[in-house]
Amino acid sequence: MIACAGFNKLSLVDWPGKVAAVVFLRPCNFRCPWCHNPDLVEPSRFTAPVPVENILPYLRRYRGMLDGLVVTGGEPTLFPDLTLLLSLVHELGLPVKLDTNGSHPELVRRLLDERLVDTVAVDYKLPLRLYEDLVNARNPERVAETIDIVLDRGCGHVRTTVVPGLHTRELLAEMVRAFPGLNQNNYRLQPFRPGNCLDPKYNGLPPATAAEIERLSKEIWT
Ligand code: SF4
Repeated sequence: MIACAGFNKLSLVDWPGKVAAVVFLRPCNFRCPWCHNPDLVEPSRFTAPVPVENILPYLRRYRGMLDGLVVTGGEPTLFPDLTLLLSLVHELGLPVKLDTNGSHPELVRRLLDERLVDTVAVDYKLPLRLYEDLVNARNPERVAETIDIVLDRGCGHVRTTVVPGLHTRELLAEMVRAFPGLNQNNYRLQPFRPGNCLDPKYNGLPPATAAEIERLSKEIWT
């Protein structure tokens, strides 16, 4: 049995501009304190799995009404049955968007080469120098490699969750400068969501407003 962590039948936000179903996979190898999916990160908080047998019939039935499937996490590239799951979805003819924290570039490359994934959204959380201290990620150069794959192939986008007080204009500008291939089309900012954070201290922070995100999105390029 392929045991997924969760399934959302319909989303209008997880694949911008598309109507998509969403599969959630666990675990995760990072520990972003502002993570709003701790149930996919902390094993003590894992809930009952959703068997793929409960998911595929829905996708088969509604594939004509869906633009695709978003595979997200947690960190999907850690999921042992990812390739098998994607092969089953591929047989249905559904396009797939993979969300990743970027820690497994060789797998992302292979999945793109095998056309099991159509587009990739890779998280770029912080300047690479801060990854180990702030999100407990020891090999940030692997994230950089995944970002380079996405930028070189033009097969997706890079995104940063803006945490108030941390992601200042200066910090975001530093991040943008580190990857000359980033531009206003392939780099997106998204607001932090308080309420269910991995580190409860972050729940007291206000979410960035749409206006703030828009302002920052313009300012980091000037
Ligand atoms: S935000 Fe993503 S990468 Fe960070 S801990 Fe949560 S699921 Fe993992």
